[in-house]
Amino acid sequence: MPYRPILGRFLQKPEDAGRVRVAVRVRPRNDEDLYYDSELIDCLELQPELRRLKLRKNNWSSESYIFDDVFTESASQKRVYEAVAKPVVETVLSGYNGTVMAYGQTGTGKTYTIGSLGNDNSSERGIMVRALEDVLAEISPGLDNLSISYLQLYLEAIHDLLAPDKNNIALTKDSKSGEVCLPGATVVEISDIDQFLQVLQTGEKNRHASNTKMNARSSRSHAILVVHIQRSSKGKDENEFLSVNINNSEEFPHLSAFFKSKLLIIDLAGSERIDESGVDGQMLEEAKFINLSLNSLGKCINALAENSTHIPTRDSKLTRLLSDSFGGTARTSLIITVSPSARHYSQTSSTIMFGQRAMKVVNAVKLKEDYDSESKYRKLECQIDSLTSELEKQQKDKLHLERRLYEREMTLAEAENKLFEAEKKLAVAEEKPAATSEQGQVEGSTYQVTVAFNEMEVTDLMRKLEEKRSRHAKMEQQLTEFLQNGTWKFAEATSMINLLIKLENHQAAAVASPRTQAMVIWFALIPIALLSLYFLW
Ligand code: ADP
Ligand code: MG
Repeated sequence: MPYRPILGRFLQKPEDAGRVRVAVRVRPRNDEDLYYDSELIDCLELQPELRRLKLRKNNWSSESYIFDDVFTESASQKRVYEAVAKPVVETVLSGYNGTVMAYGQTGTGKTYTIGSLGNDNSSERGIMVRALEDVLAEISPGLDNLSISYLQLYLEAIHDLLAPDKNNIALTKDSKSGEVCLPGATVVEISDIDQFLQVLQTGEKNRHASNTKMNARSSRSHAILVVHIQRSSKGKDENEFLSVNINNSEEFPHLSAFFKSKLLIIDLAGSERIDESGVDGQMLEEAKFINLSLNSLGKCINALAENSTHIPTRDSKLTRLLSDSFGGTARTSLIITVSPSARHYSQTSSTIMFGQRAMKVVNAVKLKEDYDSESKYRKLECQIDSLTSELEKQQKDKLHLERRLYEREMTLAEAENKLFEAEKKLAVAEEKPAATSEQGQVEGSTYQVTVAFNEMEVTDLMRKLEEKRSRHAKMEQQLTEFLQNGTWKFAEATSMINLLIKLENHQAAAVASPRTQAMVIWFALIPIALLSLYFLW
């Protein structure tokens, strides 16, 4: 399959680029719904072709909401994946960070949409499996690298689902990229889909065991799959890579051939509010923390939707983890899941409101370049070395060509002289008087032979001269082409050197800044110390 990054629906309208995409999916009715809903009037009306959902307020009026996609009960897993997650996966493969997340009340189909493994029926595979299938089909084994971490966030603690002993993994900020990361989490390299399914299954088992131990329900925890992709442009058309860079680095255009991107696929805890009244102990803790992370997410989304200056990202682990997904540099797609039953009207209504606000969040999507300066520096140095030796070789060749051209010019002049002499001889021969006597006849025929001979010599010399002229012209053309090529190489080497100097400056600035800061502090401390001494004295 040819590599063809499709930013697709994200870039349909320029003002839409970076906006969080939100789709709504209605779960099919289950037996309980059929039993209870027979006496209730439907509260939802879906118009997928208009991307519209109508929520009935009462018997007379309803409210309409537009989403990026509206999926009815019969929407297939494949269609949901292709509309919601595939565009994110494709942009992650092009070097951007991406997030796909499901939000909704417990029992509305979040896990079905995101985490279904489709063991019995492959058409039921959810977003996690389909995304990994697409990634695996696209990356080049040996050149690119794919790895995953699988985590659970419960009661503000991050548990490693691939290593059950690690039950409080710290969230830190990567000093280089500024991104929030989980250095303590287990990272498993993935090479094929069966291996990925096994890892997911192990994670699910561990999740179940850990929840039983903590007396928790999985609907109260957030399941987080982190997919790390590292791609090299080797083996792909580098221009194809560069052509999709929305904010491609202008400063180091040659360095953008390596990408490290991250895809977060999150199955959130049920969005229903856990009532804190009437619960105690574990339940109260749970109520506080579950409400905390989802409340914080709601607050961040409200603040971002209203362009507020303060975004309370640091209020919970979930919002810290999602800081790049909402208001950051990632492409984000959210699927909100709702129940078709009128019994869940208020939860459905609040989920829809959450989705509508999330649609207003616009991210500044940015390419994740790998600023591994040292290896890039070495690579540039090698390129410069090879360009320099190429340039030297070309200069040697140029001298050689010039010498040969000079020699040709000499032989050309010589030939021209010879021709001139021969023409002179011919003219002399032609001017001899016609023979009258016998001796004269003999002389006449000798002259005729001489004239004929001279004519032949002239013709031969003219042919040789023509040949020499054309060889000369060819050599001149070669020299011109050669000089042009040399100039281009020289220009390329110069731009490389400039780039190297920039990179050096960049590194020097990075090293110098802490030093400068330290000096500023020392200079500030000296007058304070002098003043203190003065007052003490
Ligand atoms: P949640 O994760 O939101 O609590 P689940 O994904 O566990 O909800 O879904 C609850 C039940 O509904 C599961 O039995 C699931 O298989 C079923 N279900 C949800 N959505 C669908 C759907 N679109 N098609 C078929 N079954 C679904
Ligand atoms: Mg679930």
